[in-house]
Amino acid sequence: MAYRPMVGLEVHAQLLTTSKMFCGCPVEFGSEPNGNCCPVCIGLPGALPVPNKKAVELVIRTGLALGCQVGESCRFYRKNYFYPDLAKNFQISQYDEPLTFGGTIELEADGEPFTIRIRRAHLEEDTGKNTHLSDGRSLVEYNRSGVPLMEIVTEPDFTSADQVRVYLLELRRLLRYLGVSTANMEEGAMRCEPTVNLVDREAGNATPKVEIKNLASFRVVHDAVSYEIERQHWCLEHDEPMRQETRRWNSTEQKTTSMRVKESADDYMYFPEPDLVPIVPEAEWVESIRASIPELPLQRRARFVSAYGLPEYDAEVLTDNRVMADYFEAAAEASGDPKSASNWVMGDFTYQLSEHGQTPDTCTLRPEDLGRLIALINDGTISTKIAKDIFAEFFERGGDPGAIINEKGLEQISDTSELEAICDAAIEANPKAADDVRAGKQKALGAIVGFVMKETRGQANPGLVNEILQRKLGQ
Ligand code: ZN
Ligand code: MN
Repeated sequence: MAYRPMVGLEVHAQLLTTSKMFCGCPVEFGSEPNGNCCPVCIGLPGALPVPNKKAVELVIRTGLALGCQVGESCRFYRKNYFYPDLAKNFQISQYDEPLTFGGTIELEADGEPFTIRIRRAHLEEDTGKNTHLSDGRSLVEYNRSGVPLMEIVTEPDFTSADQVRVYLLELRRLLRYLGVSTANMEEGAMRCEPTVNLVDREAGNATPKVEIKNLASFRVVHDAVSYEIERQHWCLEHDEPMRQETRRWNSTEQKTTSMRVKESADDYMYFPEPDLVPIVPEAEWVESIRASIPELPLQRRARFVSAYGLPEYDAEVLTDNRVMADYFEAAAEASGDPKSASNWVMGDFTYQLSEHGQTPDTCTLRPEDLGRLIALINDGTISTKIAKDIFAEFFERGGDPGAIINEKGLEQISDTSELEAICDAAIEANPKAADDVRAGKQKALGAIVGFVMKETRGQANPGLVNEILQRKLGQ
């Protein structure tokens, strides 16, 4: 097939500011309907917008993290269209002078590296929300009207739905690491609109570009892009006419259906917002924003592999969110054993977090405490089994793991003479197994070790027990 998919993505993310983009109204969820509104954000005549500096900063922060340049002079434009949720009948957005532009991100899908160019990350305002009732009435709510919104647009560089999914997951992680957005798709804080068409680069032919809307989860984005690629291939093969249009995802029928013929930029009659002067970000300010950017998830993942010798899988899981990665690093340092710290954090610790509905930064158990527990296993004070047995209680209490171990008398028995005696008793109590081991059947040793562990409530040092038994049975 000479035609290759060419997919671009437009992502909108609500910014984590306390007030709206052009007025002082609070940004908060769960307020009473139309409770967070003023003349500016419901578009009353004569009301004047004042830009939110924090929102500008968050977009610059994101743009820099995506390798973008920051514009020297950035202008707001009016994007005109008529719809009830758009109070002013225009959205204040950006056009040819965005805040940031020209970045790249390097990713990997199924072991294949790919590069996505970021066309721009700009600033605009969100619209209100319409709710259509079953009795035919419609309600319009303006609490969301004027909430700062960042738009991140890629070049059409994706060639598969899998690449799109990888990018979205990484972008969500990035926005959360940067603290610029919750990026929760379910709450509408991150929304995504792909454009899809097929291109035959040699012949210079292309199918018309289709934009897909109404995509509420990563899985749906993946399915819709994948469906649309297939649909356009099918249309080519069957000489079906195609047109430039907006399609929506129908989740019941698992397909895209036509919504409207696509507006071009001309239809929006973009023109410079006369009530706002261009933003000219000072170099010094931009540099201070750049300096405040934390280590990004992709870099951190690579460092976890190179500095701690972790497997790729561990590194990916641990760096998925920043507080978890911080927790791991503190535990690794305190224990001096990164791989064990990784196992505990990804295993028992994560399990207890979800059992208690907590996060690494809210739970009682501090990473230093976990580090001490691991050190106690490594120096032979307790066995891994004992550590696992007390972990639920340890998670709730936190503090010094030695305290729980002392209280319960759980120190591992590493006293050789004491173990010798117990091993003698174990051999005596299991004559058949002992004979089998003497005859070279190593498997039989398990029964004798089990006897020792039972006698000592799991506190015997397993390494020592093995050594002693092997010696006594002449192996
Ligand atoms: Zn307002
Ligand atoms: Mn937009």
